[in-house]
Amino acid sequence: MSNKLMTQKYITMLDGKKIPQIGLGVWQATNDETERAVTTAFEAGYRSIDTATVYENEKGVGAAIKSSVLNRKEMFITTKLWNPEHNNVRGAINKSLELLELDYVDSYLIHWPAPSQNLYVSAWEELIRAQEDGLVRSIGVSNFLPEHIERILKETGVKPTINQIELHPLLSQKEITQWCTNQGIKVQAWSPLAQGGEGIFKHKDIIKIANHYGKSPAQVVLRWHIQNNIIAIPKSVTPSRIIENFNVFDFELTLDDLTIIDNLNQNKRLGPHPLEFE
Ligand code: NAD
Repeated sequence: MSNKLMTQKYITMLDGKKIPQIGLGVWQATNDETERAVTTAFEAGYRSIDTATVYENEKGVGAAIKSSVLNRKEMFITTKLWNPEHNNVRGAINKSLELLELDYVDSYLIHWPAPSQNLYVSAWEELIRAQEDGLVRSIGVSNFLPEHIERILKETGVKPTINQIELHPLLSQKEITQWCTNQGIKVQAWSPLAQGGEGIFKHKDIIKIANHYGKSPAQVVLRWHIQNNIIAIPKSVTPSRIIENFNVFDFELTLDDLTIIDNLNQNKRLGPHPLEFE
Protein backbone atom coordinates (compact mmCIF):
# COMPACT_ATOMS: atom_id res chain seq x y z
CA MET A 1 0.00 0.00 0.00
CA SER A 2 1.47 3.40 -0.89
CA ASN A 3 1.79 6.23 1.63
CA LYS A 4 -0.94 8.19 -0.01
CA LEU A 5 -3.40 5.37 0.61
CA MET A 6 -2.51 5.04 4.28
CA THR A 7 -5.43 5.97 6.44
CA GLN A 8 -4.40 8.03 9.41
CA LYS A 9 -6.42 7.29 12.54
CA TYR A 10 -7.81 10.10 14.70
CA ILE A 11 -8.80 10.12 18.35
CA THR A 12 -11.64 12.33 19.57
CA MET A 13 -10.80 14.27 22.72
CA LEU A 14 -13.30 15.26 25.41
CA ASP A 15 -13.64 18.78 23.93
CA GLY A 16 -14.85 17.15 20.69
CA LYS A 17 -11.70 17.97 18.70
CA LYS A 18 -9.85 15.22 16.80
CA ILE A 19 -6.12 14.55 17.06
CA PRO A 20 -4.15 12.31 14.67
CA GLN A 21 -2.90 9.18 16.41
CA ILE A 22 0.60 9.51 14.93
CA GLY A 23 2.46 12.82 14.98
CA LEU A 24 6.06 13.89 14.47
CA GLY A 25 8.12 14.82 17.54
CA VAL A 26 10.96 17.29 17.00
CA TRP A 27 12.84 17.38 20.32
CA GLN A 28 16.63 17.84 19.89
CA ALA A 29 16.37 18.98 16.27
CA THR A 30 17.71 22.35 15.12
CA ASN A 31 15.44 24.83 13.33
CA ASP A 32 16.80 23.75 9.93
CA GLU A 33 16.49 20.02 10.70
CA THR A 34 13.00 20.65 12.04
CA GLU A 35 11.90 22.54 8.94
CA ARG A 36 13.09 19.69 6.70
CA ALA A 37 11.64 16.96 8.92
CA VAL A 38 8.22 18.64 9.18
CA THR A 39 8.14 19.19 5.40
CA THR A 40 8.93 15.50 4.82
CA ALA A 41 6.33 14.48 7.39
CA PHE A 42 3.56 16.57 5.81
CA GLU A 43 4.38 15.01 2.42
CA ALA A 44 4.31 11.52 3.97
CA GLY A 45 0.80 12.09 5.37
CA TYR A 46 1.46 13.34 8.91
CA ARG A 47 -0.76 16.19 10.03
CA SER A 48 0.33 16.45 13.69
CA ILE A 49 3.58 18.02 14.92
CA ASP A 50 4.80 18.13 18.54
CA THR A 51 7.18 20.93 19.54
CA ALA A 52 7.78 22.96 22.72
CA THR A 53 9.23 26.32 23.70
CA VAL A 54 12.24 24.62 25.28
CA TYR A 55 13.10 22.73 22.06
CA GLU A 56 13.95 26.13 20.49
CA ASN A 57 12.70 24.98 17.09
CA GLU A 58 9.21 26.50 16.84
CA LYS A 59 10.61 28.77 14.12
CA GLY A 60 11.53 25.70 12.03
CA VAL A 61 8.03 24.27 12.49
CA GLY A 62 6.58 27.63 11.44
CA ALA A 63 8.74 27.78 8.30
CA ALA A 64 7.59 24.31 7.22
CA ILE A 65 3.94 25.22 7.85
CA LYS A 66 4.31 28.40 5.83
CA SER A 67 5.80 26.66 2.78
CA SER A 68 3.38 23.71 2.91
CA VAL A 69 0.55 23.35 0.39
CA LEU A 70 -1.65 21.93 3.15
CA ASN A 71 -4.52 23.93 4.54
CA ARG A 72 -3.85 25.12 8.11
CA LYS A 73 -7.12 23.45 9.20
CA GLU A 74 -5.73 20.03 8.24
CA MET A 75 -2.75 20.45 10.58
CA PHE A 76 -2.60 19.75 14.29
CA ILE A 77 0.19 21.75 15.95
CA THR A 78 1.16 21.23 19.59
CA THR A 79 3.51 23.34 21.68
CA LYS A 80 4.19 23.54 25.42
CA LEU A 81 4.68 25.97 28.27
CA TRP A 82 8.17 25.76 29.78
CA ASN A 83 8.60 25.56 33.57
CA PRO A 84 10.01 29.05 34.28
CA GLU A 85 7.00 30.55 32.48
CA HIS A 86 4.23 29.18 34.68
CA ASN A 87 3.65 32.78 35.79
CA ASN A 88 3.92 34.20 32.25
CA VAL A 89 1.49 32.06 30.28
CA ARG A 90 0.10 34.72 27.96
CA GLY A 91 3.58 36.04 27.17
CA ALA A 92 4.81 32.51 26.44
CA ILE A 93 1.84 31.74 24.17
CA ASN A 94 2.29 34.99 22.25
CA LYS A 95 5.99 34.24 21.78
CA SER A 96 5.25 30.70 20.52
CA LEU A 97 2.62 32.01 18.09
CA GLU A 98 5.09 34.60 16.82
CA LEU A 99 7.81 31.97 16.20
CA LEU A 100 5.32 29.54 14.65
CA GLU A 101 3.79 32.40 12.61
CA LEU A 102 0.33 31.16 13.61
CA ASP A 103 -2.86 32.73 14.98
CA TYR A 104 -3.56 29.71 17.15
CA VAL A 105 -2.12 26.32 18.11
CA ASP A 106 -4.28 23.21 18.16
CA SER A 107 -2.99 21.92 21.47
CA TYR A 108 -1.17 23.77 24.25
CA LEU A 109 0.25 21.75 27.14
CA ILE A 110 1.79 22.58 30.51
CA HIS A 111 5.10 20.76 29.91
CA TRP A 112 5.76 19.64 33.53
CA PRO A 113 3.86 20.20 36.78
CA ALA A 114 7.10 21.37 38.51
CA PRO A 115 5.32 20.89 41.86
CA SER A 116 7.87 22.73 43.99
CA GLN A 117 7.10 25.95 42.08
CA ASN A 118 3.45 25.37 42.98
CA LEU A 119 2.29 27.48 40.03
CA TYR A 120 0.65 24.89 37.79
CA VAL A 121 -2.91 25.65 38.97
CA SER A 122 -2.65 29.37 38.17
CA ALA A 123 -0.93 28.43 34.88
CA TRP A 124 -3.88 26.14 34.08
CA GLU A 125 -6.30 29.01 34.76
CA GLU A 126 -4.35 31.06 32.21
CA LEU A 127 -4.55 28.22 29.65
CA ILE A 128 -8.34 28.23 30.12
CA ARG A 129 -8.39 31.99 29.42
CA ALA A 130 -6.16 31.61 26.35
CA GLN A 131 -8.56 28.97 25.03
CA GLU A 132 -11.52 31.30 25.62
CA ASP A 133 -9.63 33.99 23.67
CA GLY A 134 -9.05 31.61 20.74
CA LEU A 135 -5.24 31.46 20.97
CA VAL A 136 -5.24 27.73 21.70
CA ARG A 137 -7.89 25.25 20.57
CA SER A 138 -7.38 22.39 23.04
CA ILE A 139 -5.61 22.54 26.37
CA GLY A 140 -3.79 19.76 28.14
CA VAL A 141 -0.92 18.76 30.37
CA SER A 142 2.26 16.73 30.20
CA ASN A 143 4.00 14.67 32.85
CA PHE A 144 1.12 15.20 35.29
CA LEU A 145 0.39 12.54 37.90
CA PRO A 146 -3.25 11.90 38.89
CA GLU A 147 -2.74 14.06 42.01
CA HIS A 148 -1.83 17.07 39.84
CA ILE A 149 -4.79 16.55 37.51
CA GLU A 150 -7.15 16.09 40.46
CA ARG A 151 -5.95 19.39 41.89
CA ILE A 152 -6.48 21.45 38.70
CA LEU A 153 -9.87 19.79 38.27
CA LYS A 154 -10.90 20.58 41.85
CA GLU A 155 -9.73 24.19 41.63
CA THR A 156 -10.92 25.06 38.09
CA GLY A 157 -13.49 22.42 37.10
CA VAL A 158 -11.78 22.05 33.70
CA LYS A 159 -10.25 18.73 32.65
CA PRO A 160 -7.20 18.52 30.40
CA THR A 161 -7.87 16.88 27.03
CA ILE A 162 -4.47 15.18 26.99
CA ASN A 163 -1.77 14.01 29.35
CA GLN A 164 1.50 13.57 27.43
CA ILE A 165 3.73 11.16 29.35
CA GLU A 166 6.77 8.97 28.83
CA LEU A 167 5.39 5.66 27.53
CA HIS A 168 7.03 2.82 25.58
CA PRO A 169 7.40 -0.97 25.95
CA LEU A 170 9.95 -0.58 28.79
CA LEU A 171 7.60 1.79 30.66
CA SER A 172 4.09 0.76 29.74
CA GLN A 173 2.36 3.07 32.28
CA LYS A 174 -0.76 0.89 32.46
CA GLU A 175 -1.97 2.31 35.77
CA ILE A 176 -1.92 6.01 34.86
CA THR A 177 -3.24 5.20 31.37
CA GLN A 178 -6.22 3.43 32.92
CA TRP A 179 -6.76 6.34 35.32
CA CYS A 180 -6.67 8.91 32.49
CA THR A 181 -8.95 6.74 30.33
CA ASN A 182 -11.51 6.54 33.15
CA GLN A 183 -11.42 10.34 33.28
CA GLY A 184 -11.83 10.67 29.49
CA ILE A 185 -8.32 12.15 29.21
CA LYS A 186 -6.34 10.90 26.20
CA VAL A 187 -2.79 9.67 26.74
CA GLN A 188 -0.07 10.83 24.38
CA ALA A 189 3.22 8.91 24.49
CA TRP A 190 6.54 10.73 24.48
CA SER A 191 9.65 8.72 23.63
CA PRO A 192 7.25 6.11 22.14
CA LEU A 193 10.25 4.27 20.63
CA ALA A 194 12.23 4.36 23.91
CA GLN A 195 14.47 6.93 22.20
CA GLY A 196 15.60 4.32 19.70
CA GLY A 197 17.98 2.84 22.22
CA GLU A 198 17.77 0.47 25.17
CA GLY A 199 17.65 -2.51 22.83
CA ILE A 200 13.92 -2.66 22.14
CA PHE A 201 14.56 -2.73 18.40
CA LYS A 202 16.93 -5.65 18.94
CA HIS A 203 14.69 -7.55 21.33
CA LYS A 204 14.06 -11.05 19.95
CA ASP A 205 10.29 -10.92 20.60
CA ILE A 206 9.89 -7.60 18.75
CA ILE A 207 12.03 -8.84 15.86
CA LYS A 208 9.99 -12.05 15.62
CA ILE A 209 6.72 -10.11 15.45
CA ALA A 210 8.21 -7.63 12.95
CA ASN A 211 9.41 -10.43 10.67
CA HIS A 212 5.99 -12.09 10.82
CA TYR A 213 4.26 -8.97 9.44
CA GLY A 214 7.11 -7.84 7.15
CA LYS A 215 7.38 -4.66 9.22
CA SER A 216 10.24 -3.00 11.12
CA PRO A 217 10.62 -3.16 14.93
CA ALA A 218 9.76 0.58 15.11
CA GLN A 219 6.52 -0.04 13.19
CA VAL A 220 5.58 -2.89 15.53
CA VAL A 221 6.13 -0.70 18.61
CA LEU A 222 4.07 2.14 17.11
CA ARG A 223 1.31 -0.33 16.19
CA TRP A 224 1.27 -1.50 19.85
CA HIS A 225 0.65 2.15 20.85
CA ILE A 226 -2.13 2.56 18.28
CA GLN A 227 -3.98 -0.61 19.32
CA ASN A 228 -3.76 0.53 22.96
CA ASN A 229 -5.51 3.80 21.96
CA ILE A 230 -2.39 5.80 22.71
CA ILE A 231 -1.41 8.86 20.64
CA ALA A 232 2.27 8.57 19.65
CA ILE A 233 4.74 11.23 18.52
CA PRO A 234 7.87 9.40 17.29
CA LYS A 235 10.83 11.61 16.49
CA SER A 236 13.12 11.34 13.50
CA VAL A 237 14.88 13.76 11.17
CA THR A 238 15.75 10.96 8.72
CA PRO A 239 13.30 10.97 5.77
CA SER A 240 13.13 7.17 5.39
CA ARG A 241 12.38 6.74 9.12
CA ILE A 242 9.81 9.55 9.13
CA ILE A 243 7.97 7.71 6.33
CA GLU A 244 8.44 4.31 7.99
CA ASN A 245 7.00 5.54 11.30
CA PHE A 246 3.81 6.65 9.55
CA ASN A 247 3.28 3.38 7.66
CA VAL A 248 1.58 1.62 10.53
CA PHE A 249 -2.06 1.65 9.49
CA ASP A 250 -2.07 -1.38 7.18
CA PHE A 251 -1.50 -4.26 9.61
CA GLU A 252 -2.88 -5.42 12.93
CA LEU A 253 -1.21 -7.11 15.89
CA THR A 254 -2.99 -10.01 17.57
CA LEU A 255 -3.89 -10.02 21.27
CA ASP A 256 -0.99 -12.44 21.80
CA ASP A 257 1.43 -10.00 20.12
CA LEU A 258 0.15 -7.16 22.31
CA THR A 259 0.62 -9.28 25.44
CA ILE A 260 4.17 -10.22 24.44
CA ILE A 261 5.03 -6.51 24.09
CA ASP A 262 3.21 -5.67 27.36
CA ASN A 263 5.45 -8.22 29.07
CA LEU A 264 8.59 -6.25 28.14
CA ASN A 265 7.64 -3.62 30.73
CA GLN A 266 10.37 -2.89 33.30
CA ASN A 267 8.93 0.36 34.69
CA LYS A 268 12.10 1.90 33.33
CA ARG A 269 12.10 5.67 32.89
CA LEU A 270 14.46 7.22 30.35
CA GLY A 271 13.49 10.75 31.40
CA PRO A 272 12.96 12.41 34.79
CA HIS A 273 10.23 11.60 37.30
CA PRO A 274 7.46 14.24 37.29
CA LEU A 275 7.81 14.87 41.03
CA GLU A 276 11.51 15.57 40.71
CA PHE A 277 11.82 17.65 37.55
CA GLU A 278 11.82 21.42 37.94
P1 NAD B 1 11.53 8.53 20.37
O1 NAD B 1 11.13 7.41 21.27
O2 NAD B 1 10.55 9.08 19.42
O3 NAD B 1 12.85 8.04 19.63
C1 NAD B 1 13.47 8.87 18.67
C2 NAD B 1 14.77 8.22 18.21
O4 NAD B 1 14.56 6.89 17.78
C3 NAD B 1 15.35 8.95 17.00
O5 NAD B 1 16.17 10.02 17.40
C4 NAD B 1 16.11 7.86 16.30
O6 NAD B 1 17.39 7.72 16.89
C5 NAD B 1 15.29 6.63 16.60
N1 NAD B 1 14.34 6.27 15.53
C6 NAD B 1 13.20 6.94 15.17
N2 NAD B 1 12.56 6.28 14.20
C7 NAD B 1 13.27 5.16 13.96
C8 NAD B 1 13.11 4.08 13.05
N3 NAD B 1 12.05 4.00 12.24
N4 NAD B 1 14.05 3.10 13.07
C9 NAD B 1 15.12 3.15 13.88
N5 NAD B 1 15.33 4.15 14.77
C10 NAD B 1 14.41 5.15 14.79
O7 NAD B 1 12.16 9.67 21.33
P2 NAD B 1 11.92 11.18 21.71
O8 NAD B 1 12.41 12.11 20.66
O9 NAD B 1 12.48 11.31 23.08
O10 NAD B 1 10.33 11.34 21.86
C11 NAD B 1 9.48 11.71 20.79
C12 NAD B 1 8.92 13.09 20.98
O11 NAD B 1 8.23 13.20 22.22
C13 NAD B 1 9.99 14.20 21.07
O12 NAD B 1 10.58 14.51 19.85
C14 NAD B 1 9.16 15.31 21.66
O13 NAD B 1 8.36 15.91 20.65
C15 NAD B 1 8.29 14.55 22.67
N6 NAD B 1 8.84 14.56 24.05
C16 NAD B 1 8.12 15.16 25.03
C17 NAD B 1 8.59 15.18 26.34
C18 NAD B 1 7.75 15.81 27.41
O14 NAD B 1 8.25 16.02 28.53
N7 NAD B 1 6.51 16.14 27.14
C19 NAD B 1 9.83 14.60 26.66
C20 NAD B 1 10.55 13.99 25.64
C21 NAD B 1 10.05 13.96 24.34
